[in-house]
Amino acid sequence: MGGYGSGLYGDGKGKTPVERCLSIDIRQLQKENVLNLKGKLLTCDWTKSGEKVASIGMIPKESHLLLTYLMNKERITTPIYYEESETGYGERKWFTCPYCSKKCALLYLKGKYFACRKCHGLNYKSSQLSGDIDYYHDQLMKICKILNGEYNPMTVFPPYKPKGMHHKTYAKYYAKYIQLAEKRDQMFIAGAQAILDRSPKTL
Ligand SMILES: [Zn+2]
Repeated sequence: MGGYGSGLYGDGKGKTPVERCLSIDIRQLQKENVLNLKGKLLTCDWTKSGEKVASIGMIPKESHLLLTYLMNKERITTPIYYEESETGYGERKWFTCPYCSKKCALLYLKGKYFACRKCHGLNYKSSQLSGDIDYYHDQLMKICKILNGEYNPMTVFPPYKPKGMHHKTYAKYYAKYIQLAEKRDQMFIAGAQAILDRSPKTL
């Protein structure tokens, strides 16, 4: 296992989490304010054992993120459109999967193109860690039930505080939820990584 690493967008300082090498996460891009750098070409390098194996360019535009990368010596340029939704903490952007048009937070590179988990067949069941990931889904769903909210596997945030629940109690569930959701995402990424490792032609 050489592992993947990557440089930060554009300027190469700092480290990027492993998962970014296999997927693009719109939540992360929003958090880092990357989507507001409109018209700028940002690059993210993918390295294996310290060697650069691929590089992806992204240009944030008004309605989409333009991706450009080389795959098996072929230049691929593809727009990923946004979809916006109103949330309790402001407007949020989502990716629209180029294949099924569903809104999603994460798009994965498999073969030549980026697509959502479902379109790439990266479902939980194909993960070797499916037993573990199911455990996290179950735990998270239980908390959602207590909070009278719907489970959304796209986010690490729990539903809002239900009326009548003490803030202290809610804070406890909130912290627990985020902790579990992060573990769930790590499990999923590990599963996706295992699948991608089995197809060495990907990179
Ligand atoms: Zn899709």
